[in-house]
Amino acid sequence: MPRRIVVIGGGPIGIAAAISAADRGFDVTLLEEGEVGQSLRSWGATRFFTPLSMNVSPRMLELLGSEAPPADALLTGREMADRVLAPLAGRQPLKGKVHTRTRVLAIGRRGLMRSDYAGHPLRAERPFRLIVENGTEQRLEADAILDATGGYVVPNPVGSGGLPARGESRLGHRLIRTLGELDDRRSELRGKRVLLVGDGHSAANAVLVLASLAVEDRSTRVIWAVRSLKRRPCEEIANDPLAERERVVAQANALAENPPPFLVVERRAAIDSFTQSEDGITVTLGPDRSVVCDFICGFTGFRPSHAIQSELTLDISPVTEGGARLYRAVSNVTDCLSVPQVTPRDLESGEPNYWFVGSRGYGRARTFLLQTGLAQVETILESIRP
Ligand SMILES: Cc1cc2nc3c(=O)[nH]c(=O)nc-3n(C[C@H](O)[C@H](O)[C@H](O)COP(=O)(O)OP(=O)(O)OC[C@H]3O[C@@H](n4cnc5c(N)ncnc54)[C@H](O)[C@@H]3O)c2cc1C
Repeated sequence: MPRRIVVIGGGPIGIAAAISAADRGFDVTLLEEGEVGQSLRSWGATRFFTPLSMNVSPRMLELLGSEAPPADALLTGREMADRVLAPLAGRQPLKGKVHTRTRVLAIGRRGLMRSDYAGHPLRAERPFRLIVENGTEQRLEADAILDATGGYVVPNPVGSGGLPARGESRLGHRLIRTLGELDDRRSELRGKRVLLVGDGHSAANAVLVLASLAVEDRSTRVIWAVRSLKRRPCEEIANDPLAERERVVAQANALAENPPPFLVVERRAAIDSFTQSEDGITVTLGPDRSVVCDFICGFTGFRPSHAIQSELTLDISPVTEGGARLYRAVSNVTDCLSVPQVTPRDLESGEPNYWFVGSRGYGRARTFLLQTGLAQVETILESIRP
């Protein structure tokens, strides 16, 4: 039975998983390439749609005690990182077990390549070997791995069909990819022509930020390029129980429906090329259709990275790039607020004792919520008692 568990990633799910594994008597090590809550720190002023009580386990609240923010608080990503995750990483049962600025570069099984004993029980008898970088290169071994590296690692290209548009790779600092960067660069964007691409929740948040810039400087111009033809391009959930999500989506859609003078909405946009000149960046949105801007906010989503897993026999979903078995088990779930019932087998990755947890398991699927990830962590750990 596995004893040494390595958790990769110090986001909300990695921290929750490490606490639960330590409570259950596993010898736990958590490796995080940045700071604890690194990806939450890139959200800028954006708040969780879900209240804190849905984003952490009861055990995490218990460990925080009186320091815990109110259970109904809608924290920003940074607040969640600083007030919840970082304090938990520094105290028992995780004290000394969380290694930040420690990046996992590659994972395999000791002495085995991907093709050796694939699908044979012998494979499970070899420990995992991890190559890790924290200033120097280190090697460590584990009996089980919980991969909590997240689904938001590699930005999706802005070009049509998920492929980079011509000239996209040369956009450099003209292309903004996270809400945190948008927030940090407000003063640079004020009074400029900004192209926003995307119609998910991040794009909805972004158009509200850009609208606030247009209030501060009335010469700010925003072009919002979306793929759909809908008057209200962001998906709305009827009677959405998450009031913050409902507010953001409704306000963004209201802007798209009746654009104020600072905003032009380009529907059915398929970005083909970016051409930079002294006048700005000319962007083609389809045949005989182009706009000119100074900056691009590319909020077209992210995908997970497979870079560390080349020697593992993983069953990856061709649709989501998350776990294939999990995808098959939850592909009919459209409401992310219902926590789907899954078995330990649904959560297996194909490589014995290697599990995707949290948003990594969902990959590109948009139905992930932390409350689902927290439940799945418990299902996995229950099935591999030390
Ligand atoms: C703007 C935004 C708002 C959201 N709002 C909500 C919400 O309201 N409610 C909700 O339930 N969900 C929400 N989500 C979705 C999801 O819950 C979050 O993305 C959440 O951060 C996922 O947690 P995680 O622990 O799975 O992954 P992450 O928080 O992404 O953590 C992954 C961690 O792994 C680390 N890492 C990656 N690769 C390596 C490596 N090779 N070595 C070491 N460390 C590595 C990263 O640095 C990172 O810290 C939101 C997402 C976004 C982007």
